[in-house]
Amino acid sequence: MWPFLTFLSLAAGAAAFAWSSTRERDSRSRARQAELALAALKTDRHLALTEEQTKQQTVFNSMIEGLLILDEHGKVQFVNPTLGTLFGLDADIRGRTLLEALRLHELQDVAQAALVGGRVSGHEITLPGREPRVLQVNAASFRDPDRAHAGTILVFHDLTRIKQLENVRKEFVANVSHELRTPLSLIKGYVETLIDGAKDDPVVALRFLHTIEKHADRLSFLIEDLLTISQLEAGQIVLNLQPIELREQADQVVSDLAARASERQVTLHNEVPEGLMVRADGDRLQQVLFNLVDNAVKYGRAGGNVRLGARRLDAERVEGWVADDGPGIPAEASERVFERFYRVDRARSRDAGGTGLGLSIVKHIVQSHGGEVRLVSEAGKGAAFYYTLPMA
Ligand code: ADP
Repeated sequence: MWPFLTFLSLAAGAAAFAWSSTRERDSRSRARQAELALAALKTDRHLALTEEQTKQQTVFNSMIEGLLILDEHGKVQFVNPTLGTLFGLDADIRGRTLLEALRLHELQDVAQAALVGGRVSGHEITLPGREPRVLQVNAASFRDPDRAHAGTILVFHDLTRIKQLENVRKEFVANVSHELRTPLSLIKGYVETLIDGAKDDPVVALRFLHTIEKHADRLSFLIEDLLTISQLEAGQIVLNLQPIELREQADQVVSDLAARASERQVTLHNEVPEGLMVRADGDRLQQVLFNLVDNAVKYGRAGGNVRLGARRLDAERVEGWVADDGPGIPAEASERVFERFYRVDRARSRDAGGTGLGLSIVKHIVQSHGGEVRLVSEAGKGAAFYYTLPMA
């Protein structure tokens, strides 16, 4: 009996041992599996987080707005590349306070106001410097639901270009009003004088009427030029591009301006080689040459010479020029003469019936043909205006 019992207990023991060791193995393997699953989950989460961060980083880096994030202690936590460019930063400003980093009390106030009130919208600041920049700042404070992260986010839009355009528009309107008012008030003055009695003296009356006619002409030139400029700028003028012989066009302009040139004893020389063909709109090209030759006659030397020339610049372009031997244009004005209403000598231009728009029309027309204009001049040594046009 005992041996059997002994055998039975041994067998049971062995079975129990085997069972318990299997269980232990099972439970270890389950724990291992759980560990692996947890690790995989963590890796997945980590990957998702990194992916999210990479996406966020890409968005921040490609933003055209400047972005700056302050942490809960008011220290710079993040800036994107645009912000660095806007503020001309050459060092890492992370970890500094806003004031230390950008040295703008006004900005510090904006961040503070956002912290107190939640957000600040559309605040404009001007960055001082050689070329001041106007920035619009929008700021908002934030706090995570779990209160783990808090801080302030500031977004900067560069308004410099918009402000410049706004100024150009305002200046243009002011200039146009001024240009219209001057001849109008002169006309009104002469008419009143005529009514008050000057009409009874035929000689004086005739002189006044000629003056009135001159100012009325000026008004109508101005309005014509303004219409041309606005059509060119609005892209409303469709160019009728044709192969055109440049010399023929130059001949036409020389004959149109012959009378005006002879009034100032100016000799016009058409030196454009024969057979040089350009691809251009004939009427617009006439306008370019007319304005340039007219200026050369008006502002050049009385009794001087004006030369129209051209050459093949390369396989695709022709370069033409109109050169005079007058007083020329000082270097500081050489870029500005192409601006609307810019005149080197205001009184002289008005006296000569100028509108101040001729060269800006020239520039527009040449550019709309895909060409460029430039001025080569030295005070006292004449002025030469060069333009390029596509070869036909
Ligand atoms: P405007 O109607 O006054 O002639 P433009 O735009 O044609 O206007 O020219 C701008 C200014 O450039 C003129 O007022 C004049 O002062 C200067 N200018 C243009 N052409 C010449 C030239 N050939 N020689 C000297 N000054 C010139």
